[in-house]
Amino acid sequence: MNKVFAAYEDRKTILEASSNPFAQGVAWIEGELVPLHKALIPLLDQGFLHSDLTYDVPSIWDGRFFRLAEHLARLSASCKKIRMKLPLPEDEITRILVDMAAKSGIRDAFVEIVVTRGLRGVRESRPEDIKNNLYMWVMPYVWCMEPSVQRTGGSAVVARTVRRVPPGSMDPTVKNLQWGDLTRGMYEAKDRGADYPFLTDGDANLTEGSGFNVCFIKDRVLYTPDRGVLHGITRKSVFEACAALGIEVRCEVVPVEIAYSSDEIFMCTTAGGVMPIVKLDGQPVNDGGIGPITKSIWDVYWEMHHDPTYSFEIAYDGLKGKL
Ligand SMILES: *Cc1c(COP(=O)(O)O)cnc(C)c1O
Repeated sequence: MNKVFAAYEDRKTILEASSNPFAQGVAWIEGELVPLHKALIPLLDQGFLHSDLTYDVPSIWDGRFFRLAEHLARLSASCKKIRMKLPLPEDEITRILVDMAAKSGIRDAFVEIVVTRGLRGVRESRPEDIKNNLYMWVMPYVWCMEPSVQRTGGSAVVARTVRRVPPGSMDPTVKNLQWGDLTRGMYEAKDRGADYPFLTDGDANLTEGSGFNVCFIKDRVLYTPDRGVLHGITRKSVFEACAALGIEVRCEVVPVEIAYSSDEIFMCTTAGGVMPIVKLDGQPVNDGGIGPITKSIWDVYWEMHHDPTYSFEIAYDGLKGKL
């Protein structure tokens, strides 16, 4: 853990000293690159008016794009599910994002791609006649759980004032920004002195939290909810890490009860990776330290970022002299 974070901190220090106008983020708006903090969207975009959109968040780590093709495939599938079309082909998006990363010099990045319904409403038009809008940006890596907290583990609550929106209302496999339930959960967690909410399905089963999947380890078996959740790509990496480590994975209905009898708990998302939880509802999880299986999965997860099976290098130097 220390080695991964120390190398990251060094790269971050270099980035923060950069005079590149895109070093704090670059956005792609209708084909133009603009510094992130100056990027604007049209007020009448249905994405803003009705949260009628889908999005995805891949990442760049140590100058390498991680599992980008899988994020784009999920985004494309999400678009189809809500009767939209990815406005540009996946290979074109890849080319643009690589160019943006190279031009910004950001080597550890949070990359967001948003596809909105566009400027016309659903009521007055057929879905195939609407031009969907694409917005993309590359910014310095975002941590759902800061490295300083990952070293000792965070705290969570099982939310009791709000449940996860049911799959029959909003398909959770479409990554979306209808965060009403998740936002309420985050405030409840704060009110109860914790950092993260785990939401249930309203029927005493766990689902997920505010932008992350949840995993529970009991007797060397990993449990994670199969329904009512986004099929996280970080979680997929976790499954692969478990296969390599000989840990059995059960992706199935997970009753809340499992959370309270777990040996180890962690959350996972692209923005932060594998994030240990050592306190649940104010009580220590097991002995209150980060468990050994969580630690092993954490290590494998970050090693994967340098493995050409999962990542490819961005040619930052290829742009030297062209800027
Ligand atoms: C993005 C997200 C996740 C994590 O997905 P990854 O592909 O691992 O980044 C989990 N749940 C929700 C609700 C999300 O928005």
